[in-house]
Amino acid sequence: MTTSGKPPHIAVIGAGIGGLSAALSLRRAGFAVDVYEQAAELTEVGGGINMGPNAARILYRLGLGEGLDRDAVRPVGTHQRRWDDGRTLQKAGLNPQCEALYGAPHLTVHRADLLAIIAAGFPAEHIHLGHRLVGLADGGDHVEAWFDNGARITPDILVGADGIHSAVRTALFGAEEPRFAGCVAYRGLVPAERIADLGLELGNQSWLGPGAHLVHYFVSGGRLLNFVGWTEHDTWNREDWTDRATIARALAAFEGWHPQVRRIIATAETCFIWALFDRDPLPRWSVGRTTLLGDACHPMYPFMAQGAAQAIEDGATLAACLAASSDADPAEALRRYESLRLPRVTRLQEMSRANKARYHMRDGPAQQARDAEYARAGDRSPEALRWLFGFDAGALAPAEPG
Ligand SMILES: Cc1cc2nc3c(=O)[nH]c(=O)nc-3n(C[C@H](O)[C@H](O)[C@H](O)COP(=O)(O)OP(=O)(O)OC[C@H]3O[C@@H](n4cnc5c(N)ncnc54)[C@H](O)[C@@H]3O)c2cc1C
Repeated sequence: MTTSGKPPHIAVIGAGIGGLSAALSLRRAGFAVDVYEQAAELTEVGGGINMGPNAARILYRLGLGEGLDRDAVRPVGTHQRRWDDGRTLQKAGLNPQCEALYGAPHLTVHRADLLAIIAAGFPAEHIHLGHRLVGLADGGDHVEAWFDNGARITPDILVGADGIHSAVRTALFGAEEPRFAGCVAYRGLVPAERIADLGLELGNQSWLGPGAHLVHYFVSGGRLLNFVGWTEHDTWNREDWTDRATIARALAAFEGWHPQVRRIIATAETCFIWALFDRDPLPRWSVGRTTLLGDACHPMYPFMAQGAAQAIEDGATLAACLAASSDADPAEALRRYESLRLPRVTRLQEMSRANKARYHMRDGPAQQARDAEYARAGDRSPEALRWLFGFDAGALAPAEPG
């Protein structure tokens, strides 16, 4: 409560998956929340997303189950294969195992569907589109922020959920360009009926090969197959989800790969190219009454499929820390939030980076050792990922070391 007896007013900058889910978590915790988004409409491009039970649990708790059960897919399992002959490297069940072990399913979902599901749970009149934050200042007992359209706000707390190019991060910690990660992705969606003859089960498959890997899974109630094929590149001068790539170029990047991989690429309706950028982990996220979440403070390679999931966890922990704080000054609660979150997301940033090298090994002794290790102790099963999937971000427990 503020000294006036009203719930504190929280401004969330950015209406992506992280910002909107945090807004919902904060509203459920009793705060007055407004979201400010630079775009003129709520949009997510870029195909599908994997949502581990650690994040799915939060979304179900936020009352979004109906939309998730309608639009998301519960993949039966995860199957990692070799790039040329399709040999199995590791295979594990995901559903219903995740629900039995962790009380929530593992989901695959179209990003636009997920954003619409989350937005449907939050009052539209508190989402302010066409507001690009251009500056902020600490006002002592409030934050001042201003937008390119001339609007000014004075919330009690401000949360920067404005993505990898975060203006809030720059205002707090200075400008620093993200680095090209040496990888580009070819992304596409394939209508399921066009590949019905492949007889794919409703699950995740990933294919590992020299200098590249490709992942595919179903989204949109199983009507579309989403694929993302990563290849290594030395340089890149664009950073855009929606650069069109020709299917021929994507096929050339996966020349010599298994016929199933090539068939999926060839059958895509459209294909986009997207470059991967990265930043080093930040030592802190909060200054006074302002903090960060999601890609604004911990962008990560998508090679643990956890970027959006961690943004959703951030919102749950932030809401719990602020709700648990009796102090009128929220700075201490924000510090607690970042100290609970930092070890876990830094670990995932590091694991995601390491997976880039592990997934892209040239055939040879190191690749054979990796494959033998996967065969001995797969690292993708729900049991192996207990520390990740079993974690309850709303419970304010430190991240498990194991
Ligand atoms: C190919 C690929 C595959 C991925 N797969 C997965 C996966 O399977 N599972 C998973 O969990 N994660 C995955 N990720 C990661 C995930 O997409 C991101 O981590 C997640 O979308 C970050 O969400 P966010 O809300 O923090 O940021 P964003 O989605 O970037 O949202 C930021 C929002 O802020 C707005 N904004 C920016 N600047 C301003 C401003 N100045 N003022 C107002 N608004 C502003 C933007 O318009 C945007 O709406 C993947 C990423 C990629 C690239």
